[in-house]
Amino acid sequence: MNPNEIWQAALGELELTLSKANFTTWFKNTFISSYESSKIIIAVPNTFTKAWLEKKYHEAIVRALRNATNNGVREVTYKVEVRNTTPIPGFAPAEPMETSYEVTLSDSQQEEAKQQKYSENGSGGLNPRYTFENFVVGKTNELAHASAMAVAASIGTTYNPLFIFGGAGLGKTHLLQAIGHHVLKNKPNTNVLYVTCERFTNDYIQSVRGGRAREFKDTYRSLDVLLLDDIQFIAGKDSTQEEFFNTFNTLHQSNKQIVITSDRPAKEIQGLEARLVSRVEWGMTADISSPDFETRVAILQGKCTEKNYSLNMEILRYVAGTVQTNVRELEGALNKVIAYHQFKSAEPTMESVQSLLQSFVPTMPKRNITPRKLMEVVINYYDIKMEELLGKSREQRLAFPRQVVMYLLREEAKCSFPAIGKQIGNRDHTTAMHACTKIGEMVKKDEQLKHDINTLREKIYMGTQGQ
Ligand code: ADP
Ligand code: MG
Repeated sequence: MNPNEIWQAALGELELTLSKANFTTWFKNTFISSYESSKIIIAVPNTFTKAWLEKKYHEAIVRALRNATNNGVREVTYKVEVRNTTPIPGFAPAEPMETSYEVTLSDSQQEEAKQQKYSENGSGGLNPRYTFENFVVGKTNELAHASAMAVAASIGTTYNPLFIFGGAGLGKTHLLQAIGHHVLKNKPNTNVLYVTCERFTNDYIQSVRGGRAREFKDTYRSLDVLLLDDIQFIAGKDSTQEEFFNTFNTLHQSNKQIVITSDRPAKEIQGLEARLVSRVEWGMTADISSPDFETRVAILQGKCTEKNYSLNMEILRYVAGTVQTNVRELEGALNKVIAYHQFKSAEPTMESVQSLLQSFVPTMPKRNITPRKLMEVVINYYDIKMEELLGKSREQRLAFPRQVVMYLLREEAKCSFPAIGKQIGNRDHTTAMHACTKIGEMVKKDEQLKHDINTLREKIYMGTQGQ
C-alpha cells in the first residue's frame, strides 16, 4: 500500500468511532507527509489541528495506522503542511463589477461613515455581555470556543470561514459576538459587523427596492470581519443567497474574516444552495452541544457573579440538575429564582427554589423516551439505516452503533436485557448483556466515546436529533 492508501484505510477506521462533525473537522486536509522506517509523519493544515490531534486523537490514530500497516508503524508525529488543494468547483473569480467596490474601500471617509451607520451602538452591533471572559468552557463547546479564539486572534488567516453550529440557546451568538469584541478591543479601527441572517436578508431586499443595492454591496464588501448569525434563515431565499455568495467570495478573496453560525450542519439546511454549503464548510467547522452537569454549574456560578447575586452550592446544583436542555433556559431559571427572592426580600432555600422550578421538572422527559425514538437518534448520529441496525450484518460500521443503542436502551430507557435483545432484531439477551458491559467499560476510558454518548443522551432527551 502506498501512503495515501494507508491513510485512507486508517481514516476509514477512525471515521467509525467519531461523529461526522468531529471527523470532518479534524481529518479534513490531512495526509501522510512521509513514511520511512516505521515512522509516519501526518501533515495537518494548521497548528491548531496539530495540537488537537496530538492531545485527543493520537492513540486512536496510532492504532488505526498500525491496523492499516500490519503493525508496520512505530512512531507517529504531526506537522503543519498544506498541499495545494484543488479549488472548489464553481468558484468564480471576482466579477469585474466587484473590483470597483474595492476602490470604494480605500476611501477612508466613506468607510468611516459606513461603519458609523452599521455599528449602531458603536461596537459593531454587539451585546457587551457576550465576551470570551463571560463564556464558560466545557467539553461540549471547547472546540467552538478554541476556534473562535483562534480566529479572533488572527482574523482572515486561521480559519476562513469559521462555521459554528448547534442547537438553540447553546452559546453560538455569544461566541460570534465575543469574536467581534475581541477584535475591536485589540484593533478598534477594524470594520466589524455582526448581523443576523434575517437582518442581512431584509437589508438586502430593502436596498434593492429602494435602489440602494450598490450601497449595500459597498457596505458588506468593505468589511474586515463579517459575523453572520443563523444562516439557516437564508434557505430558500434565492436572491439573498446569490448576494451572500458574492459577498462571501469578495471577502474571502481579500482574506477578510467570515464567521457563520447555524442551528444545524450546513448540509442539513434544506434549501441552502450546494455552492453555499461547500463554502460554509470550507474552513473550520465546530459544533456545540448541550453542556454537561459540571459546566452547567460553572455557567450558573458565572451568571451569579455577573449579576452580583450569591446562591449556595446545593441550590446551584439543584438548578443545574433540573434544567438540562440549554443555557438560555438555564439562565431563565436562574433569573426566575433571583427575581422571585429579590421581590420577596427572602433568602433562597432548597424548598423555595424547588417549588419555583417545578415547571421545569416535567419537561425533563426521562420517562417519555421510547426505544424507537432512542434508536432513531443513534442511527441518525452514526448515519446508518434502521434496517441495518436491526439486521444481521456484523460489519463494524453497524455493530458498534448497535451496541451503543443497546447500552442506551439499558441505561436510559431502563429496558431489561431480554427486551433489548428483542427490540434489536430479535437477538439473544446475552448479546445485549455483552454490548452493555463492553460499551460501559469503553465509556470509562475513551473520552471521545464518552462525549458521543453524552451528545446522544442530550439528543434523546431534547428530541432534537435533526440538529
Ligand atoms: P444561541 O445563539 O446558540 O441560540 P446564545 O449565544 O444566545 O445561544 O446563548 C443563550 C444564552 O446563554 C446567552 O445569554 C449566553 O450568554 C448564554 N450562554 C450560552 N453558553 C454559555 C457559556 N458557555 N457560558 C456562559 N454563558 C453562556
Ligand atoms: Mg443565536
